[in-house]
Amino acid sequence: PAPVRIRGLSKTYRVGFFLNKQVKALQGLDLDIAPGQVYGLLGPNGAGKSTTIKILMGLVRASQGEALLFGESPDRPHVRRQVGFLPENPSLYEYLTGREFVTLAGRIFGLSGQELDQRVTRVLGEVGMGRASDLQIRRYSKGMVQRTALAQALISQPRLLVLDEPTSGLDPLGRRQMRDIILAEREKGTTILFCTHIISDVEALCDRVAVLVGGKRVQEGSVQELVSAR
Ligand code: ADP
Ligand code: ADP
Repeated sequence: PAPVRIRGLSKTYRVGFFLNKQVKALQGLDLDIAPGQVYGLLGPNGAGKSTTIKILMGLVRASQGEALLFGESPDRPHVRRQVGFLPENPSLYEYLTGREFVTLAGRIFGLSGQELDQRVTRVLGEVGMGRASDLQIRRYSKGMVQRTALAQALISQPRLLVLDEPTSGLDPLGRRQMRDIILAEREKGTTILFCTHIISDVEALCDRVAVLVGGKRVQEGSVQELVSAR
């Protein structure tokens, strides 16, 4: 089954003091992501990108439609274990070092001993946090926090990586580093869902892209098709 399959997905949030108003965040979204694809979900603020990702991660319940990971519901623990998630503003324990934080994530995943140590060292190296991982997280730049959070997402060797605005708020160097890490991960054959409002990131990284506006898909295709349609 495909890493991601979404059909007729809708989400209406109730807002206002009496929960008497509605925000239609998603209105009948369809999305298919094949193995090994780097798939961009592109759209302006409020388009419904985060809501899509939160439903896929089992953090928000859909109002209608279905969202499947590898053909199964995101609620199933064995499915979730195959997915690495980088949230938009990851919160890390400030007083741990990056290495301690990623080690903790590995332990929660069920790793231990030498295997845990080796995997922690490898993912920290992959995200360029070799030496800096011995500093406390409260001393990190935003880019270092993002890369440590990505190392945490990679510790389980996920088949699917879901990235919510991984480059937003980073300086040009930080953005470049994040892009290079994503490209390296793509070389390994990992399927990646990449949500952003930055079109140049999509051009640099993605095989296919869906453009979301107002909770609806307004375009879908290869990056070439998208660029020539402009
Ligand atoms: P994006 O990630 O593309 O910026 P979101 O999925 O965050 O879009 O938001 C889509 C719409 O849903 C926006 O109008 C947003 O204000 C609204 N929304 C998102 N989360 C909530 C929430 N928890 N409660 C109410 N409205 C929300
Ligand atoms: P994004 O749109 O990029 O997800 P936001 O700043 O819009 O980021 O949202 C930050 C958080 O607030 C998210 O958890 C989102 O679900 C929630 N949120 C967004 N819009 C609303 C809203 N109108 N009412 C309540 N919560 C909201």
